[in-house]
Amino acid sequence: MNGMLLQGFSWHVPADSGHWERIAADAKRLASLGVTAVWLPPAYKGQGGVNDVGYGVYDLYDLGEFDQQGSVATKYGTKEQYLQAIRALHEAGIHVLVDTVLNHKMGADATEWVTATPIDPADRNQAIGPEERIEVWTRFDFPGRADAYSDFHWDWTCFQGTDWDEATQRQGLWLFEGKQWNSQVDSEYGNFDYLMGVDVHLTEPKVMDELVHWGTWYLNTSGADGLRMDALKHMGRDFTMAWLEKMREETGRELFTVGEFWTHDLAELRKFIGEDRTLALFDVPLHFALQRASWSRGEYDLRAIFADTLVDADPTMAVTFVENHDTQEGQSLQSPVAEWFRPAAYALILLREAGYPCVFQADLDGVGGEHPIAPVPGLETLMRLRASHAHGIQRDAFDDSELIGWSREGLSSEEGEEGAPSTGVAVLISQSGAAVKTLEVGACHAGQVWECALGGQESVIINEDGMAAFTVGDEGLAVFIPKA
Ligand code: CA
Repeated sequence: MNGMLLQGFSWHVPADSGHWERIAADAKRLASLGVTAVWLPPAYKGQGGVNDVGYGVYDLYDLGEFDQQGSVATKYGTKEQYLQAIRALHEAGIHVLVDTVLNHKMGADATEWVTATPIDPADRNQAIGPEERIEVWTRFDFPGRADAYSDFHWDWTCFQGTDWDEATQRQGLWLFEGKQWNSQVDSEYGNFDYLMGVDVHLTEPKVMDELVHWGTWYLNTSGADGLRMDALKHMGRDFTMAWLEKMREETGRELFTVGEFWTHDLAELRKFIGEDRTLALFDVPLHFALQRASWSRGEYDLRAIFADTLVDADPTMAVTFVENHDTQEGQSLQSPVAEWFRPAAYALILLREAGYPCVFQADLDGVGGEHPIAPVPGLETLMRLRASHAHGIQRDAFDDSELIGWSREGLSSEEGEEGAPSTGVAVLISQSGAAVKTLEVGACHAGQVWECALGGQESVIINEDGMAAFTVGDEGLAVFIPKA
């Protein structure tokens, strides 16, 4: 089966608490497009209440159930609507991945005074002054929830550091007394354990116990099939591996997991996957290759598009993607793929053998707001073809820096069925306008007519050697399939 993940949100989906209802109503259509799993956004209450995308985590147990941070519902809806959306996806045969954000917390209920060392934000291994007393937002009592599901209260001992002293209204970076940054994190800024808010001391035994308690509760409550884990390069690998193993143990489920480890560096991704091989990672190097190809105005060497990518190095551990909620324009990691290249980029992740592709909802349906995104032309067709046609032997023709192509032979005909296979696909990507390229699709297709599934190109006849000269137009992508 050709699995296909959908990132079921973008940064600017309407903050009307109607998202879960829309997802539920959309489940059947998504299944018909070939989507096999949906990654849903963080479902718990953030400090921004109904406006929080979900990454500013306040209360992990509040799935839109308690009056906290100004509302009962989250940006996406209520707990009941969330569970209903998951049921609707399951009924449509679609798996659900839930987003876990464990690195930090925000929007505390009260401050505490702590002793802390000021740290150089550019080199987090360096103190820049003596210990001092500061006032920090570390007290989480969740009065609106009143100990439902868990009576754990968070205080400063559950955290490692923060970037704000309330008493003096100072921005900075402080490491709390008796704490040290986890050494198993990304090495940018000397040590990239701290990202934002108050940094959770994940390996502190009482915190670990509470997060295991929460994770078990959450996975059982939601019925989720797997996880998307946020901000892994800011969390100790020791914690991540131990917690994930515990989740699989406690739930008795396989729990397919994809992690966000945001780096250009393939070696870092491979090191994180390690010998354990217990979670897949988003192929960030491929995203950057697609982005560079799209903005290089025809100067990119398309033959090398998969060089140093995870999908090339370790395909079964790679979740490929074109865009996400962070790379879209206006966001923290803004690095959008130029519009003209997006259909080609999707062909590269959807119609090839390697990798588990993730389609961004905004690319499928578009989204309005301050930084609108238009639907990617032809994306629905490419998704359907992944499910129906992109099977069988793959033949690459990555031999021209400006014009690459590949084919899939399709599935052999059913026993007793006459004629050539009705599946298979041939793809051309050009960065220098209209072009012609000969591709081999397999002798089993000899004599067959293949047509352009996206329109705009003349049909071709496959010769007796299983080859044909396919054409691509100025838009840069052509996709051919056997004519029905
Ligand atoms: Ca951290």
